[in-house]
Amino acid sequence: GTANIGVVGLAVMGANLARNLASREGNTVAVYNRSPERTRTLLAEHPEAGFVPAYSVEEFAASLARPRTAIIMVQAGAATDAMIDALVEVFEPGDIIVDGGNAYFPDTIRRERAVRETGINFVGAGISGGEEGALKGPSIMPGGSDEAWQTLGPILRSIAAVAEGEPCVTHIGHDGAGHFVKMVHNGIEYADMQLIAEAYDLIRRGTGMSPAEIAEVFAEWNRGELESYLIEITAEVLRQEDAASGGPLVDVILDQAGAKGTGAWTVQTALSLGVPASGIAEATFARSLSSHPEQRAAAAGLPGPAVAPALADPAAFIEDVRQALYASKIVAYSQGFDVIRAGAAEHGWSIDLGAVSRIWRAGCIIRAQFLNRIAEAYAAEPGLPLLLSAPYFAEALGRGQAAWRRVVAHATGAGIPAPAFASSLAYYDGLRAERLPAALVQGQRDFFGAHSYRRVDRPGSFHTLWSGDRSEVEV
Ligand code: NDP
Repeated sequence: GTANIGVVGLAVMGANLARNLASREGNTVAVYNRSPERTRTLLAEHPEAGFVPAYSVEEFAASLARPRTAIIMVQAGAATDAMIDALVEVFEPGDIIVDGGNAYFPDTIRRERAVRETGINFVGAGISGGEEGALKGPSIMPGGSDEAWQTLGPILRSIAAVAEGEPCVTHIGHDGAGHFVKMVHNGIEYADMQLIAEAYDLIRRGTGMSPAEIAEVFAEWNRGELESYLIEITAEVLRQEDAASGGPLVDVILDQAGAKGTGAWTVQTALSLGVPASGIAEATFARSLSSHPEQRAAAAGLPGPAVAPALADPAAFIEDVRQALYASKIVAYSQGFDVIRAGAAEHGWSIDLGAVSRIWRAGCIIRAQFLNRIAEAYAAEPGLPLLLSAPYFAEALGRGQAAWRRVVAHATGAGIPAPAFASSLAYYDGLRAERLPAALVQGQRDFFGAHSYRRVDRPGSFHTLWSGDRSEVEV
C-alpha cells in the first residue's frame, strides 16, 4: 500500500477530515465507506485530494502502508463497534485503529482492551470543531498507547488547529483519556452556552432591547476578556432576521434545546466521581426543562412576582451581566478541570491540565482568549488544586462578585430563571464559606443512621446516643 493514513466513514466529518489530511504535505489518504456512493461522490468532488479509494475493507487494508493507520468517523455506538471488528479482521499487529467519533469513554476503555489483545493499537481520539474544524483544523484529544502516538502524533499535528504556533493536539493519556477529556469539553460547552443564553434573556427581559441590539452588546463583549467563538456566533444568531416572519430568527425558533448526550455523560461522571460540576449540571437540566412542553404548559399559570423590579440604569445592568457571565464562566471551567483531574486519578491517567487548556485555544467550540489565562495559571502552578483560586481568576471573581450578586438578585426578583448564574454563585459562596451547614447534615446522618461524625476539636469518630441518654461515644 501507498497511503500513510486512511479514513473510514465519509459522511460530513469523515469527508472533511480526509480532505484536511490530503491537503497536508506528505500525506496520501486512503478512503473507505460502507456504502460506495459516498466514496464515489467524494472522489468526484475532490479530485485534487488524490484519494486512494477502497470499496471493501480488504482493499482498504491493502492500500495502506505499514504500520496501517486508519481513522474511523462513523456513527458512535454499534456502527463504531462494527467497523472496529471489520478492521481488526484485515489489520495486523502494530497497526493503528483510531476512533475519531464521539464515543462514551467507558466504551473506548473496553474497545482499547479488546483490540490490544490482537496486537493492534486502538486510539480513541476526541475531535472537536464540527464540520468546519474537521476541514480546516480541529482540536484533537487522542488517548491510546505511547507506541501508537509515535506514528499518529505527526499526522494529527499536521491537521490540527494552531494556537500561537502550537498545534491543538496532545497525547492526553492512555486508553479512554482522550474521549474522557472530549466529553468534559462538551460539558463545559453546555455550561458556556447556557450562561450566554441566560445573559441574553436577562438583558432582553430587563432592558427590552431587541435581539439585534443585544447582538451588538455581544459583539462588543467579544472585543474584551469574554472573546470567544461562542460569544461571536451568539451575536450572529441574534442578528439574524427570519424571512418568513420579518422578525428576529431567535423568536421563531422553538424554545426546546436538544442534546446528544455528552452533557449528561459529563454530569453522570462528575456525580460518580463526587465532583460538584454544578454549572454543567444546571446547563444540562435547563435543556431538559425546556424540552418538557407538557409540564411547561401545566405550570404556565403559576404566579410570578407581583411587580417586576425596575432597572434604574440599563447600561450598568448590562455591565453587571457581563461580569456575572465572566465569573460564572470561571466557575464552569474550574469545575470542568476538576472533573478531568478526578477522572485521571480514578482511571490512572496522567493528564497535563495545562496542555488540555492549550489545545482548546483553537479549533474547538469552546475556543476563547480565556483559555490562555487557564494555560498561564497551570504554567505558574502545575499542581493547582482549584483553578478559580489562581491569582488571575481570584482577582476577576473578587472584581465581579458584587455585580454577580446584583444580577442573581435581579433574576430572582423578576422571576427570570438564571440557574447557571445562580448555582455558580452558590458554588463560589459554598467554597469560600468558613463554616458550612454540612455539620448539621452530619448530625442528621448520625441521628437516623448512626453514621458518626468527626469533631473540630479532637481526632476520631463519634456518635451521640440519640435514643439513649444522648451522651457521646467514640466509635
Ligand atoms: P454520522 O454520525 O451521521 O454517521 C454516518 C456515517 O456512519 C456514514 O459514513 C455511515 O456509512 C456510517 N455508518 C453508519 N452505520 C454504519 C455501520 N453499521 N457500519 C459502517 N458504517 C456505518 O456522521 P458524522 O460525519 O456526522 O459524524 C461522524 C462521527 O463524528 C460521529 O461519531 C459523531 O458523533 C462525531 N462527531 C461529529 C461532529 C459533528 O459536528 N457532526 C463533531 C464531532 C464529532 P453509510 O454511508 O454507509 O451509511
